[in-house]
Amino acid sequence: MIYPKSIAVLIEQFQKFPSVGPKSAQRMAFHLLRMPKDEVEKFAVTIIEAKENTKTCEICFNLSSSSPCEICSSTNRDHSTICVVSESKDLIAIEKTNEYRGLYHVLQGLISPMDGIGADDIRIKELLGRLTNEEVKEVILALSPSVEGEATSLYLTKLIKPFGIKVSRIAFGLPVGADLEYADEITIAKAIEGRHEI
Ligand SMILES: [Zn+2]
Repeated sequence: MIYPKSIAVLIEQFQKFPSVGPKSAQRMAFHLLRMPKDEVEKFAVTIIEAKENTKTCEICFNLSSSSPCEICSSTNRDHSTICVVSESKDLIAIEKTNEYRGLYHVLQGLISPMDGIGADDIRIKELLGRLTNEEVKEVILALSPSVEGEATSLYLTKLIKPFGIKVSRIAFGLPVGADLEYADEITIAKAIEGRHEI
């Protein structure tokens, strides 16, 4: 299909988003073009502001409006437990359950040799750095039960054990291979409750 260049470029941009194919990208582009000009401008400003006002927490690597983030700097949270997740979206899924009161560590990925992602490419070094703090008594691994999640969990367990810290994995009543973000709140809450030491 032949579009004017400006529309083709817009469709191309939308197609860069996860799970957006050519057809969806085209629908979004045309939707945008039908929107009133002031709404489009507001949308554009919102995108830029979100990018400018979002920081990565220097301690847990969560996305936040401040660094350290609200969770890391909260005195109401249990600083003896760190829950390890692969992405910020998993942290949000766990926070929604209102069941977990500890801290987090966002790895920003999982070990995946197939994709050329090794241990040094994710925030493992930084996690180990946090474990030298005597306050930390337990690390909960909340990584998806995928091949990469399993590999990362095993690797982390080996590294954390010598610190004399309890390591547990959340129980998965979750479907194998499923992403944490798609699980409902009750399933996640139960999974944290039923975690087992490894
Ligand atoms: Zn933080």
